[in-house]
Amino acid sequence: MNLAMTTAFDAAVIGGGVMGCTTALFLARAGMRVAVIERDALCRGASGVNAGTLTLHMTRAALVPYAIRAWKMWMNTGAWLGHGVLATAAPGLSLAFTEHEKTLLQQRAAARREYGAQIDLLDRDAALAVEPGLNPAVLQAAYCATDGFASAYLTGRAYHAALREAGVHIFEQTPATRIDRVAGMYQVSGPDDAIHIDATRLVMAGGVWLEPLLAMLDINIPVKTLVNQLIVTERMPPVMRSVLSIANGLLSMKQFANGSVLIGGGWQGIGDRERGGVETMPDNLIGNLRLAQHVIPALARARVARIWLGLESETADAMPMIGALPGLANVWVIGCVHSGYTSGPYMGKLLAQAILGEKPELPLFDPARLVVPAAAALTQSHREKTE
Ligand SMILES: Cc1cc2nc3c(=O)[nH]c(=O)nc-3n(C[C@H](O)[C@H](O)[C@H](O)COP(=O)(O)OP(=O)(O)OC[C@H]3O[C@@H](n4cnc5c(N)ncnc54)[C@H](O)[C@@H]3O)c2cc1C
Repeated sequence: MNLAMTTAFDAAVIGGGVMGCTTALFLARAGMRVAVIERDALCRGASGVNAGTLTLHMTRAALVPYAIRAWKMWMNTGAWLGHGVLATAAPGLSLAFTEHEKTLLQQRAAARREYGAQIDLLDRDAALAVEPGLNPAVLQAAYCATDGFASAYLTGRAYHAALREAGVHIFEQTPATRIDRVAGMYQVSGPDDAIHIDATRLVMAGGVWLEPLLAMLDINIPVKTLVNQLIVTERMPPVMRSVLSIANGLLSMKQFANGSVLIGGGWQGIGDRERGGVETMPDNLIGNLRLAQHVIPALARARVARIWLGLESETADAMPMIGALPGLANVWVIGCVHSGYTSGPYMGKLLAQAILGEKPELPLFDPARLVVPAAAALTQSHREKTE
């Protein structure tokens, strides 16, 4: 199918996760003809398999102003998305069980408060009053009312409907394999030249696959792949009512309305961006479960229903890349946002503002700082091969 003959888009967004879909939505609402090109179905990557925690505790301090605005968007999807993801507000508690964790907790809370997060420190009794199921060995907790969770598996369905209503052309099961510059337009092609999509502007929103995607434009930005493990239990009677995390960052946990408990915290499994998530590591599975049960002792009665792995992207400095790509006209990138599900809707809205020629409400994150020049890239790859 050669769509170039019939269709030229104002913008082609490559990658239909929360970042790409939100950008596409706001561009289309502003009157642009927009295509989303997704090699799977919308939001089946990180945006559909994540833990759904909408939190400031786990968000990097400098991203807190973005996450606060995004949290409000998630809690009010009716106003801008038109379809929900069961976003639920719940208090967020980050916990300390050791003196070292207490110091960490206080530092993390102070850093986030500096960026506008309303986080209070609670002593043991106050923490137990918020979450009676906690292990009473808890020493201190950081409390934040701007917290909660969504059901991430609903994200694709919600965005699909919203994008269709906004007139976005959605190309699913359509991997982008080549990008050419043809007569002042960008032409995105699929395998065997089965599809060509022409657009004036390009948005690269490929999650962990941003590195090979950007390589199609001869831009080298290394993207690290984290293989995050999640565990869900069978339904059980209520054992917690807040979103729980731990000061050292190794646990995130909440109980959904149906009784199942979702346990994560960034424990790693085996996989990469070529193969996806391959398998869990038994030690990490046991470690994650032990920590969860230490925090909420009633989880001793829980039975694991399913484990899965999802791929999360990270830049060299662990900060997002959102903005215009250097040296190319009308090409933007969005991705590698820590706690990116929480911030996703607001980040996409900001990028759309920049593409539309408006001043974004908050600053973007210049990708130019991350570009590795060709010679340095060669040396780096040589070093990696010889190590
Ligand atoms: C297990 C797990 C748990 C997490 N938990 C949380 C959490 O609780 N809270 C939180 O805030 N964040 C969480 N995150 C992080 C969050 O999920 C991500 O930051 C966010 O979803 C990233 O969105 P994205 O659109 O950048 O990437 P993705 O959702 O990965 O979207 C990228 C899309 O690009 C497509 N693509 C790539 N290459 C091509 C190509 N060549 N052609 C066409 N399409 C292409 C992919 O198929 C994919 O759909 C978690 C992540 C994981 C993996």
